[in-house]
Amino acid sequence: MEYQITGHTRLGGLLGTPIAHSISPAMYNETFRLLGLDCVYVCLDTANANLGELVRALRSVNVFGLNVTMPHKEQVLEHLDALSPAAQMIGAVNTVQNKDGTLIGHNTDGIGYMQSVREQGCDITRTPMTLLGAGGAASSIAIQAALDGAPVLHIVNRRGRSWSNALRLADTINRNTACRADVTDLADTAAVKRCILESRLLTNATSIGMAPHAEHTPIPDTSCFHPDLLVSDVIYNPRQTRLLAEAAKAGCRTFNGMYMLLYQGVAAFHIWTGLDMPVEQIRAKFFQ
Ligand code: NDP
Repeated sequence: MEYQITGHTRLGGLLGTPIAHSISPAMYNETFRLLGLDCVYVCLDTANANLGELVRALRSVNVFGLNVTMPHKEQVLEHLDALSPAAQMIGAVNTVQNKDGTLIGHNTDGIGYMQSVREQGCDITRTPMTLLGAGGAASSIAIQAALDGAPVLHIVNRRGRSWSNALRLADTINRNTACRADVTDLADTAAVKRCILESRLLTNATSIGMAPHAEHTPIPDTSCFHPDLLVSDVIYNPRQTRLLAEAAKAGCRTFNGMYMLLYQGVAAFHIWTGLDMPVEQIRAKFFQ
């Protein structure tokens, strides 16, 4: 189908900086073309100081929706009218819906990750989980896993910048969901090993192993990897991290962060339009 900007074309886009490398414009604009929607999605690179002004301007031109990435995922909250329950619990937004002039913040990162878990045939309601990290990606995953019914969540993090966030996450989950969450220090290798041995899903949501430091792994002692363990990484560069390679060698099934990236976009698109993204075509074109 031919794709043309017209006088009626609706605008959407990505707020963040730097964002020129983002795959989002290609993914959404191809979706609009495939579905014949008169919309366009662009990168709106903006500094922190201009965020409020830009959101006000986008509201005034009746933008169909926005994505938000680093460093604005938390700061954008003060410019929105309402939040989804998950965004409220996470304290960060990656998707903004414009519902008849009301800007509603959502967080689809965790939704995207949990969809990639389901795609592996894993029923989270029967799956004790160990999550490495307590930064932005980990927060979205922890809250969504708990909301989706994970019975047990071991959050493992180093005692650094995000340690207090790990404690806050566990407390929020224990107070608001039926999931039992606890926090373990990454340096306590015996305790980390116990968490993983008890789990059926291990998720690395730290940046350990991301290019250009692909030689690193968050779990150097692989003796706790067991064949019932599904091991995943939110990292997608490289496609196979050292963690995934070593887990596969130990007989675990593994998957990387590509599908989290795809499915957070699928969920955002559905929030904006009520429509399903043609996932197979988008996956084949951009996510191989
Ligand atoms: P944050 O900076 O918010 O969090 C990073 C986490 O990793 C923190 O818990 C941090 O601990 C921990 N960490 C980093 N380095 C080390 C280290 N050397 N040793 C121990 N812990 C460490 O980043 P994000 O959550 O935004 O991103 C994390 C990863 O997720 C990145 O690789 C990013 O590319 C990926 N990602 C993938 C997405 C997808 O769609 N697939 C979406 C979003 C992110 P501390 O706070 O102490 O530094």
